[in-house]
Amino acid sequence: MKTLESFDFTGKRVLLRCDLNVPIKEGVIGDDGRIRASLPTIQYLLSQGASVVITAHLGRPKGERKPELSLEPVSRRLSELLNLPVKFSPVIVGADVSALAAGEVLLLENIRYEAAETSKDEGERHVLAKELASYADIFISDGFGAVHRRHASVYDVAKLLPSAPGKLVAAEIEVLKKLTENPDRPYGVVLGGAKVSDKIGVIENLLDKVDMLAIGGGMLFTFLKAQGYEIGKSLVEDDLLPTVKEIMGRAEKLGVKLLLPTDIAIAPDFSASAPAAVVSAFAMPSDQLGLDIGPESAKAFAAAITECKTIFWNGPMGVFEFANFAAGTKVVAEALTKVSGISVVGGGDSAAAVRALGFADSQFGYISTGGGASLEYLEGKELPGISVLQ
Ligand code: AMP
Repeated sequence: MKTLESFDFTGKRVLLRCDLNVPIKEGVIGDDGRIRASLPTIQYLLSQGASVVITAHLGRPKGERKPELSLEPVSRRLSELLNLPVKFSPVIVGADVSALAAGEVLLLENIRYEAAETSKDEGERHVLAKELASYADIFISDGFGAVHRRHASVYDVAKLLPSAPGKLVAAEIEVLKKLTENPDRPYGVVLGGAKVSDKIGVIENLLDKVDMLAIGGGMLFTFLKAQGYEIGKSLVEDDLLPTVKEIMGRAEKLGVKLLLPTDIAIAPDFSASAPAAVVSAFAMPSDQLGLDIGPESAKAFAAAITECKTIFWNGPMGVFEFANFAAGTKVVAEALTKVSGISVVGGGDSAAAVRALGFADSQFGYISTGGGASLEYLEGKELPGISVLQ
C-alpha cells in the first residue's frame, strides 16, 4: 500500500474522500468530531502544494436531493476550522474544478445525492467513479466511516487513480490492528447499544481473543432472557436466543469473564421523563422495561475495565439520551479514562455519548470515527475501501 508521504503533491489536484457525516438539525451542526478528524490530512495536502477536491456523504438521501442533507453547512464549518475559504459545489457530476489553485479547497455536494454512489451495479458506480477521477491526479481515502462500503467514491474511484490512505484512515487501522494482533493483557471488550444482531459478529470473532467481555445496553436483555430471567417489556431479539446461549457456553469453556449486569434501571415506558427505579437483574417486573444498567453493575463493569491494559468499547450502556438513564454509560466512560494501557471508544454513538456526557476526546486513548467500519474490522471482515488501496 502506498502511503500519503510517498507522493509529491506539488501542483497536483487531489480527490479526497472524507467522512463528514455529522449530525445536523435545522442547519446547525451538533458534534463536529468527524470534521475535526478530517483536518490533518487536508492541512497536510495543502501544505504540500496540492489543491483539494473533497467528496463526502451526509445521511442516507438514497439518490435524492434532500435539502436537509446538503453538505453546505459542513463547508462553512470546515472553512472556519481550516481558517480558509472553502468553495462549495452544489453540482457533483460536471463540477467545475478547473479554476482551483494550489492551496485551495472545494467541497462537492453530498455524494449520496447520486444514486450511483451506493448502487449494487458496478457499471453504474464506475461511471460516477470515472467522473470523480477526472477531477484529480491522485485519490486519498480518508473517510474511515465509509471504508466498509463498496461505494463509488470509496472503492471504485481508488481503482482509477494512484491512491493511498489519508492520515485518519492510517491511524484508525493502526489502532484496530493493536486490538486484534497481540493486544496487551488483560484485554477487555465492553459492548452495548441497541441490538445484539449488530454486535454478534464482533463477539464471535473476539471471544477467543479477549479476557473479559461486558454486555450492557439494550442487547443485555437477550442475554438475560437466554438464562431464563424475566425481562418485562425490554428490547429483545428472540431469534438470537440460541446464538446467545451458545456464546455464553463458549465463553465459559474459554475461561472468558462474561460480565452481565446484576441490577437494572427500569421505567414503565420508553420516555425521557420516566423516573428510574433500580431492581435486581434477576427479578424484573413484567410490566416495565430496562433502560440502563444499575449502579451496582456499573461499579462492577468499571472495576473490570480499569484492570485491563487494552479495552475496546462500543455502544452505550443504556438510553444515555435520557438524563435519568445515562448513569451507566457515564460510569463506564469514566472507567475508560482511567485505563493505563490503550482504551478505544469505537463508533458514532459511543463517541457522541462520551462527548454529550461532557468528556473530552483527550481523556481516551483513541476515539474511532467509524462505528460500522471498526466493528467490521474487528469481526475479521475485509474492508473494501482499504483492500482496494493495496
Ligand atoms: P447502537 O447504535 O447499536 O450503538 O445503539 C445506540 C442506541 O442504543 C442509543 O441510541 C441508546 O439509546 C440505545 N439503547 C441503549 N440501551 C438501551 C436499552 N436498554 N433499551 C433501548 N435502547 C437502548
